[in-house]
Amino acid sequence: MKGCEFKMIIPKDVLDKKTIVFDMDGTIADLYGVNGWLNYLINGDTYPYEVAKPLINMALLARLLNRLINKGYMVNIISWTSKSGSPEYNEAVKRAKIKWLKTHLKSVNFSNIYIVPYGTPKHTIQKGILFDDEEPNRTNWGQGAYTEKEIFEVLKAIA
Ligand SMILES: [Mg+2]
Repeated sequence: MKGCEFKMIIPKDVLDKKTIVFDMDGTIADLYGVNGWLNYLINGDTYPYEVAKPLINMALLARLLNRLINKGYMVNIISWTSKSGSPEYNEAVKRAKIKWLKTHLKSVNFSNIYIVPYGTPKHTIQKGILFDDEEPNRTNWGQGAYTEKEIFEVLKAIA
């Protein structure tokens, strides 16, 4: 064995999908760090989605994602609207989230941005690698699901 650096092992059939999926809230966008976020959502205000700060280094993330896109990977978003929002509010949340991505990951050409109703099972939409802060989403996804803390470790292993 040469050296002792840790190499992340990603299952081959996960890699073969050449698809990367990101959740947004709590994964790349710090929605829950916005003061009073829940009250804004309950009151049908999109403010927290607009002002949420990036949770990780967006310049580094964009660089790695663009490298993977050049290698033939699809990069997608699957993110839920708020729990009990009206159809109008959900549409406004969708616009706010797309705008957030355009602001913070401007250079990344996403293949698909799915902003879907709260609770939609993500594994029914795509397969591949998922980054999601919610444990039930990762469990339902099966192999290839990682936490927000593992994003750079996984991406650096494949980029
Ligand atoms: Mg989340």
